[in-house]
Amino acid sequence: MIVMKFGGTSVGSADALRQVAAIVRRELDAQQTRPGVVVVTSAMSGVTDLLSAAAQAAANADHDRTEATCNLLRAQHAEVTETLIDDADVRWRLTEELEETIRQLRRVLDSIAVLGELTPRGNDWICGTGEQVMAPLLTEVLRSAGIAAVHANARSLIVTDDNFGAAEPLVSETESRCQTQLTPLLAQGRAVVTGGFIASTFDGLHTTLGRGGSDYSAAILGAALDADEIQIWTDVSGVKTADPKVVPDARSLREITFPEIAELAYYGARVIHPKTVRPAIRKGIGLRVLNTFEPDHAGTRVIADEHRARQAGIKAISAIRDMNMIMIEGRGMIGVPGIAARAFRAVSDVNANVLMISQSSSEQSICFVVPDDSADMVINALRREFSMELDRGYIERIDGDPDIVIVAAVGQAIRHTPGIAARVFSALGDARINVVSIAQGASDTMISLVVVRDAADAAVNALHQAFNLAQPTG
Ligand code: ADP
Ligand code: ASP
Ligand code: MG
Repeated sequence: MIVMKFGGTSVGSADALRQVAAIVRRELDAQQTRPGVVVVTSAMSGVTDLLSAAAQAAANADHDRTEATCNLLRAQHAEVTETLIDDADVRWRLTEELEETIRQLRRVLDSIAVLGELTPRGNDWICGTGEQVMAPLLTEVLRSAGIAAVHANARSLIVTDDNFGAAEPLVSETESRCQTQLTPLLAQGRAVVTGGFIASTFDGLHTTLGRGGSDYSAAILGAALDADEIQIWTDVSGVKTADPKVVPDARSLREITFPEIAELAYYGARVIHPKTVRPAIRKGIGLRVLNTFEPDHAGTRVIADEHRARQAGIKAISAIRDMNMIMIEGRGMIGVPGIAARAFRAVSDVNANVLMISQSSSEQSICFVVPDDSADMVINALRREFSMELDRGYIERIDGDPDIVIVAAVGQAIRHTPGIAARVFSALGDARINVVSIAQGASDTMISLVVVRDAADAAVNALHQAFNLAQPTG
């Protein structure tokens, strides 16, 4: 029994969906011992972005925009239904269900427009609509292709806390629901189709697991059901040595360790959601990243690190964009205990995520990187915390530097391999790229540094070349 997750591009057109059906059928035909497949689907590509923009538009009472989104949602799904579903009764039922979902979506968008306020709870309700309509549609696409598929509502399978926008599963409740609802269906060798990304609280409020979270759904379900493998089917042939959209000669990695992929994902390689690895490690379930459009390619196998510890060195480069470097500066901080502790407490009180603390932190300055969209909140919190020090001039400024990108070089046993840092900095120096800041103390699996946005692609390419990542390592 395995879990197969298909991303937005994989379900983004009738042609892609035919491909998905062929992949699921091949898997079911090949199964011998534990039968059954859980198919986790994303929304069609672009749909979640569209819904998220519509939610914002509703808060601004932009009725034309919200209406256009509803119409586009209808058109995209109707086209697939018309093209791939032969049975007229099924087509009619899917159309009715889609219309009902759109009616509800309109009601929620209208109420946000009346209030003039978009809450994280409202946002989750709206953003989850793409998966909510895609899962029953994919179920029927598979059935039309002769596969014994059945839909299971993700919102009654995955139970989460109420941290809207980045909800976390309640593991034992989720496990017991999955086992009760899905095990009998899987034992019959069926394909159970469910939406990724979406879940609900114990009280039935709609939540999401965060952008890109369908991968995480697949891992949660895989762990809950003790799957034999979790497969992430996407639009590239596995995890590559860099984002192929930035480095055209990036190469597919045959294997990568859990710690390596966790760092890569955390630092921007969105081929897999960073939280995906945790449930897989917890249950010791194999993870593979595969290409829907090149299904015979072996893709990338994610393995436990012990086996590979000997393969030291940099394996891949990633970049995480839209960051902001926060600086607290002032000579009056010298010798005053507790400034850093107060600063980071203030940051954690506003729930901001610190991605990197920079080496230039000294007694005269503290420097760290947060996502740009939380920068204003962080700066305001720090100015409140240090208002007295600012008034008296002990702290001279608290500011943010936007348009910052963190570039990370990821590999195994970096600390124990001499010369890696030197190679990183000489490659960037040769390419005349200015390093704004470097991380305090490289971890054993990663070196990260900060560059300005306009230099990010050049930095990724320079490092990719410096470590000869386009060449197979044998
Ligand atoms: P899906 O919709 O299937 O979840 P995503 O767009 O979320 O797909 O992730 C796949 C994309 O991740 C690829 O198209 C690629 O541009 C990007 N990507 C970034 N870094 C890497 C990497 N190291 N290896 C492969 N793909 C990467
Ligand atoms: N559709 C969601 C998103 O775009 C979840 C996902 O694709 O994984 O963020
Ligand atoms: Mg994704």
